[in-house]
Amino acid sequence: MVKTLLLTLTHYHILRFISAAGPTTRSELAARIGLSKAAMSGLTRELLDADLLCETSTVQKQGRPSALLDLCPHGAYFVGVSMVSDPALMALVDFRGAIVSRVKIERNLDPEALAGVVSDALPILLGKAGIPKSLVQGMGVTVSGLVDHEQANIIKSTLLGWQDVPLAKYVHQQTQLPTFIENDAKTLAVSERLFGEARDRHSFSLIWLGEGIGAAHFVHDRLHRGAHGGAGEIAHCTIDLDGLPCRCGKVGCLDTVASMIAILDMARAEGLKAETLNDIEVLAASGSSVAIRLLHRAGSALGLAISQIIQINDPQMIVVTHRESRFDGLFATVMHQTIEANVLPRLAGVTPIKTRRVADEDWAIGAASVATHSFLNGLI
Ligand SMILES: [Zn+2]
Repeated sequence: MVKTLLLTLTHYHILRFISAAGPTTRSELAARIGLSKAAMSGLTRELLDADLLCETSTVQKQGRPSALLDLCPHGAYFVGVSMVSDPALMALVDFRGAIVSRVKIERNLDPEALAGVVSDALPILLGKAGIPKSLVQGMGVTVSGLVDHEQANIIKSTLLGWQDVPLAKYVHQQTQLPTFIENDAKTLAVSERLFGEARDRHSFSLIWLGEGIGAAHFVHDRLHRGAHGGAGEIAHCTIDLDGLPCRCGKVGCLDTVASMIAILDMARAEGLKAETLNDIEVLAASGSSVAIRLLHRAGSALGLAISQIIQINDPQMIVVTHRESRFDGLFATVMHQTIEANVLPRLAGVTPIKTRRVADEDWAIGAASVATHSFLNGLI
C-alpha cells in the first residue's frame, strides 16, 4: 500500500498511462481513459495526495493554463539487484527510474546466503539515500538464465550454476519485500519500456549482445514468454547448418557465430590480438582481412536473425543493446545492411533499429524496473 491510499484498477491505469505517455493534462487523461473530467479530477487528487503524481508544469489549452501531471519520483521506490555483474550491484531507484543510492555486494553463489547479503545491504542502501523502507514497494533481481512465468524461480542459470532456485522466496523471507526475478534480456526490455526509447511502444524486441546473445519481446504491451519461458531466444536459432558445435548441444547456433565469446574466441584462434569487439574493428579498419571476415560473418548472422524477428513479429522497433564503447563499425554496418536486405521490401526501412550501450548500473535500474512494472500492473 502507498501512504494511506488503497490503489484501484483505475489508479493503476492512470499511472500506467502517464508512465508511457509522459506528462499529461487531466482533461487528456479523462478523454483517453474514458472518464468524466470530474471523476478524473478526484482520482488524480488522490494520487497527488499519495505522492504518486506531481504537477510538473502548465500548458496553454484553449487559452487556459492546464497543469501537466507526471509520476512523482519520490512517491515510490524500488530496489534492483544485478547479478549480471561481479560484484553484484544493488540500487535504490525512484519512481521515474533514477538511481538514488547504490552499493556493491558480494555475488554469493549460494542462493540462500545471497538473500542474506541482500538483506544486510538493504538498510545501508536506504540509509545512504535517507529513504524509509516503507516507501520501497518491491525488489527486482536480474540474472542470466531462464526464469519461470511467476518471476519467482530460476529454472536454470549456467553462469551462476543454479537450477530450480526459488530465489524470490528466499529474498522475500529475508527482506519482507515483494521480489521478482527476471532474465537479463527481459530485464533490459522492461527497463526500455518504462524508462527508455520504447516508452510509448507496445510492440518491440530487444537484443542483448553480451557474452551470449539474449532477446526479449514486448507484444501488445506484454512481455512474450511463450509456453515454456523460452520465446524468441534467438541465441540458439540455427544460422549455419554446417556450423560449429554449440554449448547447447546443437550445431551452428547464432551464439556460435555472433556472441561476444564466439567472436573473440574466433579472433584469438585466427591469431588476432583482441580483447573487445572494438579491438577487432580497429584491426579491420587497418586492413586485416581476418578481422573483416569475422566481423562480416558475425554482423550478417545477427542481422539475419533480427530480420527474421521482424518478419515474424513486425515489431515497432528493435533495440540492440551491448557493452561496447563504440558500436558504429563494420559489425554494426553489416548487421544493419543484412536486416534491410532480408526483410520483405514492404517492411524494409520501417522498423527503426536502435543501438544502446548498457553499463553496470543499467542492469540495476533494469532490475528495479521489473518491480516497478509489477507495481504499475497491480501485482504488488
Ligand atoms: Zn545453441
